[in-house]
Amino acid sequence: MTHDSLLFTPGPLTTSPSVKAAMLHDLGSRDGRFVAVVSEIRRRLLRIAEAEDHGFEAVLMQGSGTFGIESVIGSTVPADGRLLVLSNGAYGKRIVRIASVLGIPTEVLEFPENVPVELSRVAAALGSASPFSHVAIVHCETTTGILNPVREVGQLVRQAGCRYIVDSMSGFGGIPISVPACGIDFLVSSANKCIQGVPGFSFAIVERSALLECRGRARSLSLDLHAQWEGLERDGQFRFTPPTHALLAFRTALEELEAEGGVDGRAARYAANHQALVSGMSTMGFQCYLPPEHRSHIITSFRYPDHPAFDFGAFYDLLARRGFVIYPGKLTHEDCFRIGNIGHLFPGDIEALLSGISEVLGELSLCLTS
Ligand SMILES: *Cc1c(COP(=O)(O)O)cnc(C)c1O
Repeated sequence: MTHDSLLFTPGPLTTSPSVKAAMLHDLGSRDGRFVAVVSEIRRRLLRIAEAEDHGFEAVLMQGSGTFGIESVIGSTVPADGRLLVLSNGAYGKRIVRIASVLGIPTEVLEFPENVPVELSRVAAALGSASPFSHVAIVHCETTTGILNPVREVGQLVRQAGCRYIVDSMSGFGGIPISVPACGIDFLVSSANKCIQGVPGFSFAIVERSALLECRGRARSLSLDLHAQWEGLERDGQFRFTPPTHALLAFRTALEELEAEGGVDGRAARYAANHQALVSGMSTMGFQCYLPPEHRSHIITSFRYPDHPAFDFGAFYDLLARRGFVIYPGKLTHEDCFRIGNIGHLFPGDIEALLSGISEVLGELSLCLTS
């Protein structure tokens, strides 16, 4: 393979050379060095979640982020439980689909894709005697890049006496969050998003008493969160073949996160990427889908230009040929495409992408500013 493309996507992302190089070792799953890596990763994840010494556990689960969500949803809601999903995008809908496949009684509170989850409607749905045992929300809805008020919703969920599940797949590690302070019982994220590892596993940051409740509830053998935790606690090992190389890469990625100044440092770089992107794109005549107050620095949605000659397929291909991979939209009501600000990418890479976009507009004879 020649030079890798830069991935301006929601994941998998561009990773650093050292993260890739960390995988050039074969370790047995029972090797003491590997067991130590797993234990170090679990400790570091709790630190990033600001949950050390707060009665929380970090559980690693094979598979991509969706497997982690499915593990948590399927392992936590009891047979007589009821789930409320707060949804304003495709990933909220995916939680609903998971619950439906698992046969979990679920209600959905839907919000438009360009509006954050509204507290008043959540409070009304939970009521004084909540009919729900669990509430799930997406932190940064990667469909649009919108940020949901996870902490404020957490207070309502606490008051209602429900367990709180947060899909922070695309936020964790790139947006500072204190899991205990937000009242979160289960936060799910994965290796290949803001921590900048390679794909292969997901993880959950879990409040210990909430985890202990899960014994025997799982609707799946391999995705049993409590059994997975028990295994990790017993001998430091996974129950089934672990993604050894991905875990080695992840350990290096965690060290690089710390060297960058932790989550705050990383958030600052992503914010600089985001600002450079939005300013360059608007100069060329592109419009953001979300108003500024709802945008996050994780990923940005742009409307298709209102120009008869614009064709996303052609635009995408010409950019890909130059080594820049962007992402299609996922909105139900509007044609958008997305550009991610996360991964091992820096404002200089954003400038290179912007030059590429400008060239492609020229090649397609698209002038958006007149
Ligand atoms: C990436 C992502 C997921 C998981 O997607 P996978 O393709 O399974 O890794 C879930 N939720 C959100 C918000 C995401 O951004």
